[in-house]
Order: sequence, then C-alpha cells, then structure tokens
Amino acid sequence: MRTSNLKVPLTLKKWEQVSRRLRVLVVEDEVELAKVVANYFEHEGYLVETAIDGPSAVEKARASKPDFIVLDLMLPGFDGIEVCRQVRTFSDAYILMLTAREEEVDKIVGFAVGADDYLVKPFSPRELIARSKAIMRRPRSQGQDGREESSTALQFGDLKIDPASRVVSVNGNPVELTRIEFDLLEIMVESPRNIFSRRQLLELVWGGDWYGEIHVVDVHVGHLRKKLTDAGMPLSTIRTVRGVGYGMEML
Ligand code: CA
Repeated sequence: MRTSNLKVPLTLKKWEQVSRRLRVLVVEDEVELAKVVANYFEHEGYLVETAIDGPSAVEKARASKPDFIVLDLMLPGFDGIEVCRQVRTFSDAYILMLTAREEEVDKIVGFAVGADDYLVKPFSPRELIARSKAIMRRPRSQGQDGREESSTALQFGDLKIDPASRVVSVNGNPVELTRIEFDLLEIMVESPRNIFSRRQLLELVWGGDWYGEIHVVDVHVGHLRKKLTDAGMPLSTIRTVRGVGYGMEML
C-alpha cells in the first residue's frame, strides 16, 4: 500500500476542499422516506438534493456533482442499477444503494455496477448516516489525500501521464478521466511489467478498508479502457489476464 505523507502544505485549494460542505443526492421514490433521509443528512451538515426517478437522478448527479449518492434500487423511469451505471461514466461519487429485499443484493453485486456499498430496507436513519460516514472515510483519491506524487511525466506509447497536474493525453490530446480512472492508470503505468490483481488495485486506489465487491474494479477499468481507445490507444493497452487481473500491454 502506498504510504501517505503529511509533508504537503495545506494550500488554499486544499483548505477549500476540506471546508466545502459535502453534497448528498438522495434518490428515492418513496417521498416520505426521501424526506426523512434528507433531513438526517441536513442535520449532519450536508447539502442535500433529492430525486424521485432514474432520469432526474442522473441529471442532478451531473449538474450538482454530489460527493455521495444514496440510491434506491427500484425507481420509476429506469432503476438504480442503470442510474449507477450512467453516473459512473462521469462521476466518482460514493454510491450507497438501498434495496427493499435481501435477494436484490445479488443484483447489485452481480451486475458490478460500481456501487460502493448497499443497505437493505428497513434501516434506521442512524444506521444509514453511520454507514455513509464510514464509506466517505475511505480514501478515494490517494493523490488528493497526500500521496507523494512523482513530478516526472510517465510515457507509455502515445499515452502521457502527468502526475503533478493529473493530466492524461494521447498524442497530445487530453483525455478526461475521473479520479479513480486516473489513479488506476497511473498505478499500472508506473509498473508496466506488473499484473495487478483486482484486490491489489482496490487496496491501492480505494484503500485497504474497502469491504465491498471487488468487481467494482472491472467497471472502472472498463470505462478507462473505453476512454483510452476512443482517444486512439489500441484496445490492448490495458490487458486483462484471466484469473489474475490487469496490467499494461508490454511495449
Ligand atoms: Ca423504490
């Protein structure tokens, strides 16, 4: 596991990040439950928005860039799994899924949609808040949390990664990545001869106390791979080693 360090001075930008109120999007079509959940988060000091169906949830996630999304599975429009899938293409927000039945958990886990955790109804609001806080404590972006950044740009074929500015480009054209996608790519390009297991990638990118579904890695690698190939990299840039994990194609 990469070690964090405390040498990074608390820059103004960092301070703004720390002091910024966290935003929560509550997606739940049972209006009374949505209200109760929203009230609890507000009481805890979060900025809260609510959505009552799939399409408006995606729209609000895009517009207000929440840090955390409480997402009911069964929704009008399209369901929470589809919301999760769409949101994951543009956001690294933590997602806690709510399900009405234990059996539906298989759906969330099996579809590997990229949710961070789930909670089965009925739950107490206190339980929800406690779970949410635990999820948000997981280090999501090691880069922002003080990982020692190497300042030299990494090159891999036509792909260039600048760890300092966190900019990725292919043939000079910038590729927009989420924080998780960037972290995954940086880790793999730093050690291009390594094959990383999903568990290793989870520990490096999500942090060691992550206890959810390990196939969440596949979802993010899939998006990363698509963005890189769309930018002109060969499909084989990130290779899948069956039964092992992921690594960079040897050049
Ligand atoms: Ca529902």
